[in-house]
Amino acid sequence: MNSSTVPRRPRWRSLALLALCLTPLLWPLQHLAEHYYRSELVSQNRQTLDLYVANLLGTLHRYETLPQILNDLPVLRDTLLMPQSLNNVDKANHLLRDIAQQTGADVMYLMNTNGRTLAASNWDQRDSFVGRNFAFRPYFNEAMAGKLGRFFGLGTTSAKRGYFFAGAVHDGDQVIGVLVIKVDLDHTETLWGKTPEQLLLTDQNGVVILTSRPDWRFRATRPLTNAEKQSIVSVQTYPTNDPLPLRLDEQAWLTQTQQIDEIGWSVNILAPRALIDRPVRTVVAVGAAALLVLISLLGIMMQRRRHYLDRIAFEAKARRELEMRVIERTSDLEGLNSRLRQEVLEREQAQQELVRAQDELVQAGKLSALGTMSASISHELNQPLAAIRSYAENAEVLLDHQRTDDARGNLKLISELTGRMASIIAHLRAFARRDRHAPESVALQPALDDALALLAKRRRAMDVELIRDLPAATLWVQAGETRLRQVLGNLLANALDALTEKGPPRKLWLSAETSAEGVNLYIRDNGPGFSAEALARAREPFFTTKTRTQGLGLGLAICDTLMRALGGELLFANHPDGGALLTLRLRAGASGVNLQPPEDLSA
Ligand code: ADP
Repeated sequence: MNSSTVPRRPRWRSLALLALCLTPLLWPLQHLAEHYYRSELVSQNRQTLDLYVANLLGTLHRYETLPQILNDLPVLRDTLLMPQSLNNVDKANHLLRDIAQQTGADVMYLMNTNGRTLAASNWDQRDSFVGRNFAFRPYFNEAMAGKLGRFFGLGTTSAKRGYFFAGAVHDGDQVIGVLVIKVDLDHTETLWGKTPEQLLLTDQNGVVILTSRPDWRFRATRPLTNAEKQSIVSVQTYPTNDPLPLRLDEQAWLTQTQQIDEIGWSVNILAPRALIDRPVRTVVAVGAAALLVLISLLGIMMQRRRHYLDRIAFEAKARRELEMRVIERTSDLEGLNSRLRQEVLEREQAQQELVRAQDELVQAGKLSALGTMSASISHELNQPLAAIRSYAENAEVLLDHQRTDDARGNLKLISELTGRMASIIAHLRAFARRDRHAPESVALQPALDDALALLAKRRRAMDVELIRDLPAATLWVQAGETRLRQVLGNLLANALDALTEKGPPRKLWLSAETSAEGVNLYIRDNGPGFSAEALARAREPFFTTKTRTQGLGLGLAICDTLMRALGGELLFANHPDGGALLTLRLRAGASGVNLQPPEDLSA
């Protein structure tokens, strides 16, 4: 159990450690992303810058040659030579306006050698240059010196930024005046549009002259030298003589610069760093998220693997435990088995001994019963003998009366009775011997009739009323023919014995019923019934309440033994209305036709 729970925490800790170790990977990612986005931005801005510079130079170049081309115009020369001629001036004004309109120049004007403006394209406007002196502008002196005058500056009357080109007008070799063309640069600023990138154009003084941010305009990007300051004051380049410094946060802007050497300007594009930072942050965030997902997946995988290992370990443990238990149980079972085998052996031996002892006991019991029985032989034989005597006496009387047929009948009965006596003796012998005949199907009523016939004479002499309540259909019981007659004869004789002890009316009831177990035969008399002692001891051999001469106390003992041997039962009781009630419980037999006793007792 410990092995599965303890490593959990360190695993999560190692994951956190892994995350910490992998985090620096985000730095090169950021670096790469920054590099990528920066180069993208730079190349894009480079193009913009090139375009802008080309555009600016194109604009300037367009006007650069104009003074040289125009300074030969006769109207201009005439005006310079005869400035008092209003006609000349008017012509010059119109000409300059027409050319300015055609070329797109802002203003064109003509100055005499003193720097005074004689004619201008805007002569008819409120901010007309006519009459004004621009000798302080550097381009004037340059033009007067025969060079192309160039100058950037804020118009002193128009307050518009412009680029001035100036060229000398000659009369022969003599310079008689200067022609100036002013190009409007304000519009190049408006071309820039509303992009996040900002335009910053500085002149040779480092002062911002064109920019997409109005608050940067005319700010100095670097400290000005004294000479520069003086020149600014003298030529009035800017609206102020002391430009304020422009403080830009270097970190916030990504600057790209292109120098325009011919005019000493530099064009800058300032891209806010946020343009790079934002996508870089996104990339880093995505990277971090991916890393997180990766680590989470790794964690989940590790957890699953650990669960899997845990489960395998658990199952292996369970299997081992099961195997151990099986081994234990098997050894238990083996022990138990050997004990059982031992016990079985002992039991078998005991059984054998028991069987032997039982055999001996049975034999001993039988011998003792035989001893008992031999004493009763005379008793058992007394009844048939008495019957034989009575039949013999009868036969004598019948012969005396010449009734030979009846006498023969009696003799036949005598012969039958002797046969029965022989069978009783044989039966007793058989009883003493081990073998018993298997019970067979015997008809109850005929056996009862036979037993009654043997006692008929005595019954009549005693005037005993016989009440028969037997079913008409033959009742088949499991018994031996002879043994059943023997039992019935005994019981009936006992009933008659009991009835002698009582005055009339004497009654004998015979009834039978079939039950689930078999057939019950009831023999009841209205004699004195069993005494309490007799009820308890009637089964004992030699128990008798009769005088010695009359009874041996063996009848019920033999009946009981025989009945049990037949699988039946003999019950003694007293009837509630008085008298004895004997119940013979017999097993039902298969109905058959065998009315003759086949029982072989000769053996
Ligand atoms: P014996 O007839 O020789 O006495 P039994 O074994 O047949 O021997 O009977 C034992 C005793 O059971 C009798 O002595 C008698 O007291 C009692 N007994 C048997 N049958 C009856 C009966 N029908 N009524 C009253 N007592 C009986």
